[in-house]
Amino acid sequence: MNNLKISNLIALAFLFVMFSCTTPPKTKIQCYAWLGGPGNVTDTKIKAQFTDLKKKGIDGLMYSGGQNPETYQRVGKIAKEAGLEFHTWIPTLIQGINPKIKPEWYAVNGLCESALTKPAYAEHYKFVCPNREEVYQFLADMYGKIADIPEVDGIHLDFIRFPDVILAQGLWKKYGLVMDREFPQFDYCYCDKCVADFKAKTGIDIKAAKDPSQVQEWKQFRYDLITNLVNRLAEVVHSKNKQINAAVFPGPSVAKKLVRQEWDKWKIDAFYPMNYNDFYLEGTPWIGKMTKESVTALNNTKLVYSGLFICPDPKKKASEPDPENHGLLPEELEPAIRESMENGAAGICLFTPERMTPEHWVIFDKAIHATYTKK
Ligand SMILES: [Zn+2]
Repeated sequence: MNNLKISNLIALAFLFVMFSCTTPPKTKIQCYAWLGGPGNVTDTKIKAQFTDLKKKGIDGLMYSGGQNPETYQRVGKIAKEAGLEFHTWIPTLIQGINPKIKPEWYAVNGLCESALTKPAYAEHYKFVCPNREEVYQFLADMYGKIADIPEVDGIHLDFIRFPDVILAQGLWKKYGLVMDREFPQFDYCYCDKCVADFKAKTGIDIKAAKDPSQVQEWKQFRYDLITNLVNRLAEVVHSKNKQINAAVFPGPSVAKKLVRQEWDKWKIDAFYPMNYNDFYLEGTPWIGKMTKESVTALNNTKLVYSGLFICPDPKKKASEPDPENHGLLPEELEPAIRESMENGAAGICLFTPERMTPEHWVIFDKAIHATYTKK
């Protein structure tokens, strides 16, 4: 063996040692989190919170901070410094009292009651009608201005739906209801424009129908109202080279039945189904079943991030009557993530990081770095 060969061998051995000492890149699933703010919190504190979330494995925020573009500019800058994607989470069809929104734009139920003056279920359920051109104009302007902000990566739609005509079963007790069928007080929208447009399109006078819940065309008309609105907003946001995505109900089978979202027809970039199993009195295998349905409905062509609802006080879950305080226990978090990933999710989204206990974070860290094989 001559010197040249020996030196080559040494070089090879050196390379081998170098590569074997370098740890392979750690796999990690894509993780988002729904987060509200900023209230009176200082920039320094926001930066510390965002840095901590990034360190824990969060890649991007769906951030809710009202409708003022300046808020998103300020917080978005901090998110970018912390290395986070920044999507603005702003409710679409729920709109509180606002001088820019006229009372007649609000949706009307089957008893002719306005969602402004007599909202269903809760005070904040003030839904506007998706069929009003003025509503579209208001939303296009509002989302458009926010999409113009350089620090904003995307617009995240929420409450992009009708009020729940059927509530998730886990909520029936809370509201003292048995929702085994559609009831007129929770059924929208019977405003003059919706009734007239439906008549013009189909010839059916929905106000004369004995049981509107049995009129398939009426269901489809309302799915289409939401779909058309979403697709028009998507054009606005895409024209600014920004992403648009949405928090949706599970399915879309559940979404169609409960809130009239036929979201597999939406031309948006990603979907965040709220696979909140406790609201449906289901366990973690249901999260997998729903994720599978979602990716299949989208023909595996769009990104699905499985929304996970976290229990903020695991010790009290069993004795807690309000389903809003239920959610995934630390020991349920790994199966919830696994079910999502094995069934085709592109990642997960936490509701919310603030509800996570230290025990949740320990399990989260292991689960997001595991390797999953799609079933
Ligand atoms: Zn209407």
